[in-house]
Amino acid sequence: MRTPIIAGNWKMHKTIKEAVDFVNEVKDKVANTDVEAVICAPFTLLKDLKEVTKGTNIKIGAQNMHFEEKGAFTGEISPLMLKEIEVDYVIIGHSERRQYFNETDETVNKKVLKALEYGIKPIVCVGETLEERETEKTKDVVKYQVEKALENVDKDRVKDIVIAYEPIWAIGTGKTASSKDANDVISYIREVVASVCGEEVSEEVRIQYGGSVKPNNVEEIMNESDIDGALVGGASLNPSDYIELVNF
Ligand code: PEP
Repeated sequence: MRTPIIAGNWKMHKTIKEAVDFVNEVKDKVANTDVEAVICAPFTLLKDLKEVTKGTNIKIGAQNMHFEEKGAFTGEISPLMLKEIEVDYVIIGHSERRQYFNETDETVNKKVLKALEYGIKPIVCVGETLEERETEKTKDVVKYQVEKALENVDKDRVKDIVIAYEPIWAIGTGKTASSKDANDVISYIREVVASVCGEEVSEEVRIQYGGSVKPNNVEEIMNESDIDGALVGGASLNPSDYIELVNF
């Protein structure tokens, strides 16, 4: 059985006070769920979030990291630094990082390998552009992205990776893939994982859908057979929406 995982991606939002207030407001209301509840926050919030979520079932993630442990990489944060504050997850290869910050499938793979080495679970984002969808390249695109992300990863560690299928045209646009379309792509991603790592591993890997998930569509999405969770941007910023998402 795969434990469902609902992860908020706060992107570049919230001050420390806003983040702490958020957790204090939601923590009791997300306590009785079988879902794994995660908040992926800007670096400046992570230490305080780890403190304020102690004794709750909320896990904390970063939104990016470098693949080197230390060095002359001005402005970057290393896996060692995230490990020091016991961050649970790290988003890798979000489409905004690919689009605005030159993230490539090669750097995604290096980061996945490093995150696993440091005991941080990667949430690896894959997904097609609108043009790729319209020209029926979705499967080719996600296959390549998933295969590259998993290159040289020890098969025993693949179950620690969460894959987030996020069609780029659905992120922050209010457009969602239909739950059936999302499920079709996600079951295809599971086939790709099976071809790389074997069926058994593929049955353990959790694959989320992301792209304009809201309290009013989360249940339909989560009812699909292969969808194990959601990566949620905009709606995760609002405490009452986050509570509804986690208790779908
Ligand atoms: C995201 O940031 O990963 C995302 C899916 O955003 P939104 O839910 O706002 O579309």
